[in-house]
Amino acid sequence: MQDIRVRAHAKINLYLDVVGKREDGYHDLETVFHSVDLHDEIIIRKQATTGITVYCEHSGVPCDSRNLAHRAAQCLSDEVGGIGGIAIDIYKRIPVAAGLAGGSANAAAVLHGVNQLFELGFTQDVLMHLGAQLGADVPFCLHGGAALGLGIGDRLTRIPALSDVSLLLLNPGIEVSTASVFKKLKFSLTKREKTSIIIKTYVEKGDIVGVGKNLYNCLEVPVFSQYPEVAALKNELSTQTGCYGALMSGSGATVFAVMSDKDTTHRSESHFKNSVSFCTSTVTSPVGVSVY
Ligand code: ATP
Repeated sequence: MQDIRVRAHAKINLYLDVVGKREDGYHDLETVFHSVDLHDEIIIRKQATTGITVYCEHSGVPCDSRNLAHRAAQCLSDEVGGIGGIAIDIYKRIPVAAGLAGGSANAAAVLHGVNQLFELGFTQDVLMHLGAQLGADVPFCLHGGAALGLGIGDRLTRIPALSDVSLLLLNPGIEVSTASVFKKLKFSLTKREKTSIIIKTYVEKGDIVGVGKNLYNCLEVPVFSQYPEVAALKNELSTQTGCYGALMSGSGATVFAVMSDKDTTHRSESHFKNSVSFCTSTVTSPVGVSVY
């Protein structure tokens, strides 16, 4: 085998609360992740010349060793003492710096793909452990489907994934730095009024009305105060016919709606298409990475 093609799926957070601040500067989270069908396409090829080369046309994505896909390949190569040349082509569909874990998904896809292509034999657990060193969302992107995430989001417990639930994703074209959002979060003011138990139960039951009603993300407060247009977009999305609930994903600025069915989702998509920078209908996915 000379190459492998891997889909790198985006994630949304159905629930996200910051529950503590750690000595290392990170925050402890309680979050419910779900993979979505929206994905980047990654082609990984063996190449004769040594080293790792990354190709990506997106102007916001570096192609050097700052690229998370590059770092993932380097990480596996280092683990086995070198594996020769690797070329990685990334076709971006997931908006960048949008709270959808695009970079982490790419890293997960490369860990999975390089492991298979070079027959390295790492187990899923080892890949997830290595992935955690690249980014907090990488273990979930490898895990895929639905999961409760604790710690920095890397301690995962599987939840049965929602099957083919319609979603609408909107991004106003604002790139939000995750670090800056956490810096602005007034942690002492975020009283723990919520718990993920309720939404987790609705996900397990596949009750999308209950899921829609119980969406929660404490990071909306700092993001909405800096970018009122994100709050306005969420409000408009909430009032669409067939919308069971809307929320900002991760540290934003993407907002998503849990929709009743595909028809209403496509009607809402037409409503927003010409007025927002990114608008796509998608569905929940049972996987985070998949070879195609
Ligand atoms: P998170 O919620 O994990 O912070 P995000 O979806 O908000 O993720 P990303 O799309 O992962 O954000 O992009 C964050 C930063 O990572 C961007 O500034 C981008 O330049 C950088 N980056 C590095 N590698 C990649 C990659 N392969 N794809 C996208 N962004 C990348």
